[in-house]
Amino acid sequence: MAIPVSFWEQKWAEKADIVVVGAGLVGLQSAIKLKLKFQHRKVWVVESATLGSPASLRNAGFACFGSLGEILDDANNIGLENALLLYENRYTGFLKLKETYGETKIGYENTGGYEIFKSNEASIFENIAANIDSVNEKLLNVHQQTAFQLKKTAALGMNVFETAIYSPLEGAIQSHLLYESIRNHALSLGIEIFSGFQVQNIEQLDSQKWEILFSNSNVKFVASELIICTNGFTKQILPDIEVYPARGQVLVTEAIPTLPFRGIFHYDKGYIYFRSLGTRILIGGARNIDFDGEQVMDQNTSENIVNHLKQVITEVIVPGIEPKIDYQWAGTMGMAADRQPIIQKIQPHLHCCVRMGGMGVALSATASEKLVNLID
Ligand SMILES: Cc1cc2nc3c(=O)[nH]c(=O)nc-3n(C[C@H](O)[C@H](O)[C@H](O)COP(=O)(O)OP(=O)(O)OC[C@H]3O[C@@H](n4cnc5c(N)ncnc54)[C@H](O)[C@@H]3O)c2cc1C
Repeated sequence: MAIPVSFWEQKWAEKADIVVVGAGLVGLQSAIKLKLKFQHRKVWVVESATLGSPASLRNAGFACFGSLGEILDDANNIGLENALLLYENRYTGFLKLKETYGETKIGYENTGGYEIFKSNEASIFENIAANIDSVNEKLLNVHQQTAFQLKKTAALGMNVFETAIYSPLEGAIQSHLLYESIRNHALSLGIEIFSGFQVQNIEQLDSQKWEILFSNSNVKFVASELIICTNGFTKQILPDIEVYPARGQVLVTEAIPTLPFRGIFHYDKGYIYFRSLGTRILIGGARNIDFDGEQVMDQNTSENIVNHLKQVITEVIVPGIEPKIDYQWAGTMGMAADRQPIIQKIQPHLHCCVRMGGMGVALSATASEKLVNLID
């Protein structure tokens, strides 16, 4: 049970002007942009985790914007124009991250990204590849460069279809370096980050003020602007916002000195992703083998998914090799069928920026910018 709050603690808790809930990539960048916009206002971030974040420090570190197959799949749900806009928002978001923090500081490697197919998926490959020229043409104004090319896979040493769809623009980051850069930026601007505060409820005190209540502290924060950036956990605070949690499980193997490839890879319609991490393999995903079981906020791994990912390593990625798994973890994404983020005003002085989907690293920079543009 939380201990009683002192007079002094409560007075301190009322000193913020703007409170952002969630210290993931979106919450921290929103706080930074708010502080830069309203320099005289006190900006605070409250975060339930004591270290890190369920998505921002638990992801795969892909600097990706959407493979050709994913764009076409999105186009079926939200129309081609919206699917291309989402790609553009991710691409420009990643440019902003590189410009603001620098490639070295975020551990960026421009490895290129491959959309690969199972050996028996020739017809799926052909259907997707048939759209390559038209999508490339539409994306030319985004980066003045060809987005997708066909590339032979033989040199990768994998058990996959002979041709991949390659994006020279994609790459990999070191997620902890990006997170650290953004967090340090926030701290350097005087933004306070309070970790270990689990928001249970928010209440409107009057037309100008929100009160923030915690499940593990009796202190009550008060803010004249409240921003919710809780991604897959949003329904716990804002039950009417359409976002559901999706668990993503990740394995990292021991080093494999003979690893024949570098790069990031999208496999099985994007549900499985893997990359080189030095000479290790990082692999994640496979929600599609148990969608219902993976629609949870629980951040433990599960045997069925872990076994499936191990099987893909041994049968597809490095055929015949069964490397030891050095790390395995799970994180939580915020999803919806249409894969679009929600960036909106909910009530006066209450906004949210949530539902970053499976490619929220790059998107976080543009999403937080759009959010801050909504606030006067
Ligand atoms: C396994 C996995 C792999 C991924 N791989 C990639 C990838 O390679 N490339 C890519 O672009 N994207 C990837 N993503 C997605 C990407 O990481 C996310 O879209 C992005 O980090 C979302 O940032 P966020 O700040 O919105 O969410 P989060 O990082 O989840 O931040 C939300 C924060 O809110 C906090 N919070 C929630 N509820 C409360 C509460 N009640 N009180 C206080 N705090 C609260 C959480 O603790 C969390 O820190 C992956 C995600 C996962 C899970």
